[in-house]
Amino acid sequence: MTVCLMDVLLRRGLFVALQLAVSSSVRHPALRAGLIGARRTKKTWPVSFSQDELRKRLTPKQYHITQERGTESAFTGEFTDHKDEGTYTCVVCGAPLFSSNTKFDSGSGWPSFFDLLKEESVTLTDDFSYGMHRVETTCSQCGAHLGHLFDDGPRPTGKRYCINSGSLAFQPKDTAPSASSSTAEGGAASGSVTDGKTEL
Ligand SMILES: [Zn+2]
Repeated sequence: MTVCLMDVLLRRGLFVALQLAVSSSVRHPALRAGLIGARRTKKTWPVSFSQDELRKRLTPKQYHITQERGTESAFTGEFTDHKDEGTYTCVVCGAPLFSSNTKFDSGSGWPSFFDLLKEESVTLTDDFSYGMHRVETTCSQCGAHLGHLFDDGPRPTGKRYCINSGSLAFQPKDTAPSASSSTAEGGAASGSVTDGKTEL
């Protein structure tokens, strides 16, 4: 019991120290603006992977897009003109994100979808980078950057999920009898805050 209490107290102490560090750095107006602009309010995701593992498992392009919020050049992604039937999943954690049924040719040069497989599978946040206001789309399971959401899509939703091929993997219809069964496997993830180096 005492050991547990000590543990809790220690963690608390660390947490307070961290908070102090953050609040003191935020005092600088420019820094504060930067932090707000990045809107990194949601720091923990249900599933997390070590950066080392991801660097090994993903291509440099996939890593850059999903972990560093990168964007592939238009018309270069492997799924832009991909028309097979099946499910598009997160390349990092495998969560099902989009169905080929909602994919359409937007002419933008990136894979485009007018709807999600499940509303909760993608998290939306404001993105004020590059002097514009856009809505960033992120995998709700692992926090991987996917792309952006625009309001100029076709009916019935009027939405256009503009997604990097590099953040997607594809499961053909025939080989995925139950594509939705793999979502919950990482429920109680390690939860470790790997380190703070995702800060810009
Ligand atoms: Zn993911």
